[in-house]
Amino acid sequence: MLLSDDIKSLKGIADKTAESFYSAGLFNLNDLLHYFPRNYESLKEISPIAAIAGDGYVTLKGKVSSAVSSVYRNGKNMTQFSFSDQSGTARVSVFNMPWLKKSLFAGRELIMRVYAKRKGMQVYLSQPKFYTEDEYKEALMHLKAVYPLTKKLNDAPLRKAIEQALVLADDIKEYLPDYILKDRKLISIPEAIRRMHKPADMDEVYEARRRLAFDEFFLFLVKMELLKEGEEKEKSSYIATDPEASFEKLKAHLPFKLTAAQQRAIEDVFADMKSGYCMNRLLQGDVGSGKTIVAFAAALAVCEDGRQAAVMAPTEVLAKQHYDDAVRMSREYGLCFKPVLLSGSLKAKEKREAKEGIAEGRYNLIIGTHALIQDDVIAKDLALMITDEQHRFGVRQRMSLAAKGKAPHVLVMSATPIPRTLGLILYGDLDVSVINELPAERLPIKNAVMSEDEHTKIYQFIYKRISEGRQAYIICPMVDEGGLEDVTNVTQYSERLRQIFPPSVRIEMLHGKMKSAEKNDIMERFSKGECDILISTTVVEVGVNVPNASVMVVENAERFGLSQLHQLRGRVGRGGYQSYCIFVAGKEDEKLGKRTKERLNVLKETNDGFKIAEEDLKQRGPGDFFGLRQSGLPYFKIADIYTDAELLKETKQTVEEVLRNDPGRTIPALMAAIRERESLSYIDFHGICL
Ligand code: ADP
Ligand code: MG
Repeated sequence: MLLSDDIKSLKGIADKTAESFYSAGLFNLNDLLHYFPRNYESLKEISPIAAIAGDGYVTLKGKVSSAVSSVYRNGKNMTQFSFSDQSGTARVSVFNMPWLKKSLFAGRELIMRVYAKRKGMQVYLSQPKFYTEDEYKEALMHLKAVYPLTKKLNDAPLRKAIEQALVLADDIKEYLPDYILKDRKLISIPEAIRRMHKPADMDEVYEARRRLAFDEFFLFLVKMELLKEGEEKEKSSYIATDPEASFEKLKAHLPFKLTAAQQRAIEDVFADMKSGYCMNRLLQGDVGSGKTIVAFAAALAVCEDGRQAAVMAPTEVLAKQHYDDAVRMSREYGLCFKPVLLSGSLKAKEKREAKEGIAEGRYNLIIGTHALIQDDVIAKDLALMITDEQHRFGVRQRMSLAAKGKAPHVLVMSATPIPRTLGLILYGDLDVSVINELPAERLPIKNAVMSEDEHTKIYQFIYKRISEGRQAYIICPMVDEGGLEDVTNVTQYSERLRQIFPPSVRIEMLHGKMKSAEKNDIMERFSKGECDILISTTVVEVGVNVPNASVMVVENAERFGLSQLHQLRGRVGRGGYQSYCIFVAGKEDEKLGKRTKERLNVLKETNDGFKIAEEDLKQRGPGDFFGLRQSGLPYFKIADIYTDAELLKETKQTVEEVLRNDPGRTIPALMAAIRERESLSYIDFHGICL
């Protein structure tokens, strides 16, 4: 067997099962090895029935102590029996396992992991999983991996397949020299893979994960270093003639005065574009700080000089918004923009027309999503490339669009306030401008952390704001971003809300599985004020600008990282209205609950994104990588720049050390190994092309 073998080469996987694996992105055995659990369960030691106090999973050993009944009710089968150990008796109810009746009988000994509920003197058991004595002993030694599943991909076949594939773990080559492994206390890759799937305890998981996270950081940083080495300051083909003068034409019409920070950022950008060398600048500014105008100022200078500029946005919604802005500005302010929107939802004919226009130079402002970077889009004279919300893009995409011009200037904008120390490592190849103030007249957002049983209050509050003419977002509990369950959640939530609110309240929903035309349509209606409440998954997270929306409700806020919550909050407070953000903490066990409150309180206390990022960094510890949505940086699948901040710093040192000890750059061997792993879809680095 080879890592690259199709999963069909495994025992028990025929065409139909294979389809279910393919649908989850699992094609070969290597994919399987890298399909990591989302959490782990431990089988507890056997406890007596009498000791069951509250609700939860327990492991019991005893005997079936009654006849076993099996009945059908409402189309469901229910098997019931009594179960006793020396300390007491409990009632077991099992759904939809009719075959149990055949194998169970009074007196049969059982070991089972089961969900227990105590009501007064009675104990009720459900969802049993049965173990033989041997299986139980074996299970005690390992944690049980809990894999992310989909509607099609089921647990049992996945487990069997991974179990079989694990023998191939040793085929994955080590690329790090021994001294690094020793120095940095890293376990080998095969060991890491095995432990991710079958750890003895959580410490093993942490070690395994640490190794895999290290790999991600290492490869990313090596590539970045090599890229920097190869790249002297590049001469630019475009030198701006008088960007200040062209900007005056825009500035004169703006309904607001630029903040000092915006002014500084624009000066930085203009200086770069006049320098004769390629701009490589990151514009960092909190949500709502007004980065867009900086982008348009830069684009205008380029267009005035008769060249082309491109703006790349991470979502269709956002691209459309920039496009509409550009169209409006050119019309109202008499600017020279000839904008074109290039997005995935264009019809073939429209797309052809757009591409031709771009190639011939009929359009000078190209706005779009990643469709922009498809190989066959060739700009006539691209002099500037702007990427909005850069953290959604890999550097590779940045580079490949940049390659479309003769060394264009590159401006990347990000609202992800990354703590400075980490930013220096991750964005080491960029100059940085920071917009560190919000427009003065902006009213600070008012925040509240509320619990699930306060929903009536929340809905009344929303209703009041809607009656005043405002609009509201509700971010729905998400299961797996873009997954089917999210769709169900959003749909059910919308239905519930439609019953609660009077019919005059217009409710729409938005989720990642919708076609982009549909998404655009809904977003457009929301921004025109034709919809009052928008229920959505996190697809609205990035950059959407509807100044009339003044309420943001985030359900199950505990599932998000602080920085991400801050991003979501940034959808409101963008106009002159007092805005509100309500974080709803879902029900959890008590220990977690207190920490959640503490975490969410940080958001209540400050609206400053950089402070929140620092706090995020402080609060996260090992173990936080399960269940919590991470920073939204796409470079890393396993690593998280917050949770693994220390590791990131260590890795940075290691990379420097490795490269220093290798002046002749024998690292190509290493890079070859890296490429091999990548081609085996090891980890999707979204990295830099070499
Ligand atoms: P972001 O930095 O999140 O991309 P935007 O550029 O979308 O922010 O700006 C948010 C809103 O603030 C927009 O409606 C924009 O017109 C407005 N805006 C930008 N700069 C200023 C300013 N200096 N004063 C007042 N409003 C501003
Ligand atoms: Mg923006």
